Amino acid sequence: MEKLINQLIDDQYLKTPQVIEAFRKIHRSDFLPEEMADQAGMNIPLPIRFGQTITQPLTVALMLELLQAKRGDIVLDIGTGSGWQAALIAHIVGPQGKVISIERIPQLVQFAKRNVAKYNLKNLVIVHGDGSAGLEKHGPYDRIIAAAAAPEEVPQELIAQLKSPGRLVMPIGEWEQDMVLVAKDERGKIDRKKYPGFQFVPLIAGGLPPPVLE
Ligand code: SAH
Repeated sequence: MEKLINQLIDDQYLKTPQVIEAFRKIHRSDFLPEEMADQAGMNIPLPIRFGQTITQPLTVALMLELLQAKRGDIVLDIGTGSGWQAALIAHIVGPQGKVISIERIPQLVQFAKRNVAKYNLKNLVIVHGDGSAGLEKHGPYDRIIAAAAAPEEVPQELIAQLKSPGRLVMPIGEWEQDMVLVAKDERGKIDRKKYPGFQFVPLIAGGLPPPVLE
């Protein structure tokens, strides 16, 4: 993994010192099924069972660089999966910050909780439920990030749960996705940017009650 991290730095995907530090401290191998742990350093998505994948490191690097999470930020992470990305963000925002991560598959909630328990991240909570409309009760958020793709556009509820200023990063599209960055300024004015060429699992909406924090 160290080799891959250095490659991502050389190729300028990883730039921000706090993001680089998180990549070095939170090991992808700790977020894979045991029999796959030795493949952690490969720059590809890898299966984590239940038809889901842990995101490709290059994509996580790009998303976290767009997100620009800061110390003390309150962050909503939609689609916990393995918990790797949630743990990286929890490391970046530090003890003064907080990450709420939502996952719809109960077995993956358990898997992610076991994985993050290898680290002392008191500022990270993982909850079961449908995160497609965010979690209004605990918002607004400084940052929102989703690792599953909405088909057509960024759900309006998510934009509404973003602070001014605030930033949201998520993939949008049905077969191939654009990575979309929504930036709100201090006055709530919205600016969008798109980066083409991604492939994510779909964000599956409905069929579950809204998530409840324990
Ligand atoms: N960042 C994760 C990537 C997980 S893949 C990692 O590093 O491992 C995306 C995850 O989003 C899958 O686990 C999938 O079950 C979950 N997901 C899809 N739709 C969802 C929804 N509506 N609410 C919460 N999670 C969802």
